[in-house]
Amino acid sequence: MNQAFIALGTNIEPRKEHLRQALEILEANEAVRIQKRSSVYETAPVGYQDQSDFLNMVLEIQTSLSAMDLLFFCQQIEKELGRKRDIRFGPRTIDLDILTFNHENSTVERLIIPHPRMHERAFVLIPLAEIAPGFIIPVREKSVEAYLKELPESDKADVRLLETEI
Ligand code: ATP
Ligand code: MG
Ligand code: MG
Repeated sequence: MNQAFIALGTNIEPRKEHLRQALEILEANEAVRIQKRSSVYETAPVGYQDQSDFLNMVLEIQTSLSAMDLLFFCQQIEKELGRKRDIRFGPRTIDLDILTFNHENSTVERLIIPHPRMHERAFVLIPLAEIAPGFIIPVREKSVEAYLKELPESDKADVRLLETEI
């Protein structure tokens, strides 16, 4: 069994429904077990700002899939929910990013683990800290909590707790 953290994001309505559908598809896969899920946070867009606010959450899963097969599965969910890729960092029905996979540090084809931008994103670190504050981010060798402390307050203020249950 492998352990992974996955970050979900959506900023096209119905946003909660997109999160629910993604969770449902994940849960329906026997090779994946959701161990923990964070609350849902509402987040101002980062990078490309001319778009609606996001809902973000993070999951801890156990899976018998390889990292690459997990990526394919995540991309299949994105496709099923009708995600179109046009603007980089632009609006999306759902985005599923693999944050970490066991304690691996690897780049295979188009999969980079740990996710190269996870440690600088409040919308990832805040929900991740809720379910795994002491987790040491591979390569960086620092805990989620420690990274979160280093983020500017203004970044953190852009991530608001919305709902504890989805
Ligand atoms: P970001 O990765 O900065 O959050 P994004 O999620 O909007 O941006 P996508 O369009 O979802 O980017 O993905 C672009 C590519 O990123 C995918 O084709 C995938 O191959 C690659 N990728 C690399 N590492 C990962 C990872 N850890 N999880 C998910 N996708 C990854
Ligand atoms: Mg992403
Ligand atoms: Mg992505």
